[in-house]
Amino acid sequence: MPMRAPIYLSPPDVGPAEEAAVLRALRSGWATPFGPEVDAFEQEIAQRVGVPYALALNSGTAALHLGLLSCGVGPGQIVLVPTVTFVATANAVLYTGATPVFVDCDPATGNVDVGLLGEVIADLRRAGRRIGAVMPVDMFGSCVDYDPLLDLCREAELRIIEDSAEALGSTYRGRCAGSFGDAGVLSFSHNKMITTSGGGMLLSHDAQLIAQARHRANQARIPAQHHEHDEVGFNYRLSNVLAAMGRAQLSRLDEMTARRRRLREHYSKLFASVDGVEVLSESDPGTNCWLTVIVVDPKLTGWQAADLARHLEQADIETRPAWKPMHRQPLFANAEARLTGAADRLFAQGLTLPSGSSLDEMQIDRITAEVQGFLHQHS
Ligand SMILES: *Cc1c(COP(=O)(O)O)cnc(C)c1O
Repeated sequence: MPMRAPIYLSPPDVGPAEEAAVLRALRSGWATPFGPEVDAFEQEIAQRVGVPYALALNSGTAALHLGLLSCGVGPGQIVLVPTVTFVATANAVLYTGATPVFVDCDPATGNVDVGLLGEVIADLRRAGRRIGAVMPVDMFGSCVDYDPLLDLCREAELRIIEDSAEALGSTYRGRCAGSFGDAGVLSFSHNKMITTSGGGMLLSHDAQLIAQARHRANQARIPAQHHEHDEVGFNYRLSNVLAAMGRAQLSRLDEMTARRRRLREHYSKLFASVDGVEVLSESDPGTNCWLTVIVVDPKLTGWQAADLARHLEQADIETRPAWKPMHRQPLFANAEARLTGAADRLFAQGLTLPSGSSLDEMQIDRITAEVQGFLHQHS
């Protein structure tokens, strides 16, 4: 059999533009965790998302951590976190000394169930518990249902740290993901919409919030010739070289998003005639199509998501279940969670398909042939 290169879920999509940008930064002498590329990257992202202030950081997780701290989250408080998310959201809560309480998802989107969230807030308040903040996560690039969520949080006087790590370029009723919270977070990890190989951004409408986070990201160093520090600080700044790479990626965001969207439409067509297979968030007009997740109802299909995963794995095509819910993680074995069963079902029945913007026509044809072969065997 001829050697086949594996097809990955969402590999970095980098080329000559990124190479030129990195070289430009290196040759400028600014091989530093600050500099003109960082400043420009912050401005360009802020403009793109539609927020006045942005802080470049070395990971999305760092941005979540500083966002929580800037909203005053700390020990003795609860932070409400969707159980369907990547562990970084919940880990950032642990870093602050606060405690995450997990909330189940809307089965159609995988995003937090806003009605259930309202019940949890009311119950916790009634029990006299202190809630520090709410962390909606724009899952797989689809925005949370923000109209009711913002109403709820305004009424309950709760601050919002929006985890938009997966949602750069997504919109909800014309507004960009990352702009809804008191703080918003983007990730530029290797598998996200754009990558700096590792990086993140904290966004806000509040100049003071970003200034405080900027201070903490630089070891809480006060401008003085000697090194002086007035609180606990972190080494969270983004490299100027990587910011240059991020700018090149951002200039290609529309083109890369269009490629993910075409893939999503392709998968929708591929499964359209299969009873019992749905594409998650299929009706969301604002999604950036970061990852396409299908949900398989085995009672209707006669096969499981895991069967298709195994078939594709034999063809060197990577897939993955939807995020394993936080309440199922050993780390959170003792955590509180308000559950409906939707997240467990999504984990059992969901399958994430190769969605990267760098997939070429031959790779897409290979995936199509394997999926069609599988469906034929099981029809
Ligand atoms: C990727 C991701 C993060 C973390 O980003 P890093 O840049 O890898 O630290 C946080 N939350 C969600 C939902 C993510 O998908």
